Amino acid sequence: MSKKYSIIVLVLCSLLASCAQTMPSQIAESPTAVIVGQTNQPTPPAEAARRPTIEPFRFVLPTPGAEPVSNWRPPLYPLPWAVSPYDHFYFARPIAADNVNWPLAEYRYGGVYFAPNIVHTGVDIDAVEGATVLAAGAGTVVSAGWGLFSGSDNNISDPYGIAVVLRHDFGYKGKTLYTIYAHMSEVKVVKGQRMKLGDTLGLVGSTGATTGPHLHFEVRLGGNSFYDTYNPELWMAPPQGWGVLAGRISGEKGELLYEHSVETRPLPSEVPLRRVYTYAKEAVNSDPYYQENLVLSDLPAGIYKVTMKYNDKTVQTFVEIFPGQITYFTFTDKNGFQTVPPPAPTLNFLPRTATATLTPTP
Ligand SMILES: [Zn+2]
Repeated sequence: MSKKYSIIVLVLCSLLASCAQTMPSQIAESPTAVIVGQTNQPTPPAEAARRPTIEPFRFVLPTPGAEPVSNWRPPLYPLPWAVSPYDHFYFARPIAADNVNWPLAEYRYGGVYFAPNIVHTGVDIDAVEGATVLAAGAGTVVSAGWGLFSGSDNNISDPYGIAVVLRHDFGYKGKTLYTIYAHMSEVKVVKGQRMKLGDTLGLVGSTGATTGPHLHFEVRLGGNSFYDTYNPELWMAPPQGWGVLAGRISGEKGELLYEHSVETRPLPSEVPLRRVYTYAKEAVNSDPYYQENLVLSDLPAGIYKVTMKYNDKTVQTFVEIFPGQITYFTFTDKNGFQTVPPPAPTLNFLPRTATATLTPTP
């Protein structure tokens, strides 16, 4: 990928500082979407203050709707897509399928680009200037234009640039879901507007802290702040026939390994397919079920070799990616690679794992 993106993301991120036993291989006939219902969560004062009074929340599942036509990848699974009870592929891609729209490998969720305390809270999707930005799910526009970070409509130095925030009609585990679309050249919507899946939100640009056009996309759950983000690659429906790899990699004392480089290659080819890094320490959240620190999506089904360095040795395992599913693995000092899915969660849902020790300085 172009070097320019490193700068793009870096700058944005500076402001955002702020795991084979694979899954069962059968695919459900239809997605088993998980958990909905009214929320009883109190609204944090800060959020209440900036939330426009538009429509009451409706916690329902995403509804099927228009979807971009694909040239470079198969069409997505229908939304909502969930093979396991803990999956939640509720969103479509925010960029039309005839654009290359997988997240830039170097700028994934949880990456660090400039300094140890600057962590990327979304994924960057390569796209040409003027490409259409699409609603990843139905919802209401709660913010459109400048000022997503700073809160000021007139702040044209806001790192997100021209951005849109959608509050979705559906939630997860009683929590509100938001998606964020940043760095647009132009918005086509206004605050309060109702959007269907696939509706046009605006155009790809390079406003804000970027040096070139791309879309910065975030998924926020339970609140609309930097500390409420989750890895979009676990929320965007896979292309049909493709799957997702999620992992949790830890060290000698059980501690998560941060920013650890992992290579994933399809077999039989030995050509590196993708390099991915485990999450950095701060500001990002692991999925409540998977507790992952690494996700790699858009993998065509098949066998992959996963390789990394550990204590100066190269360690590896083989995982199978299944269509429409998440393949999960762990690495621990004691047991090496394992492919046992996590046990069903026993905690009251959604532990907040992000540490809010960072103070973004706009
Ligand atoms: Zn970004």
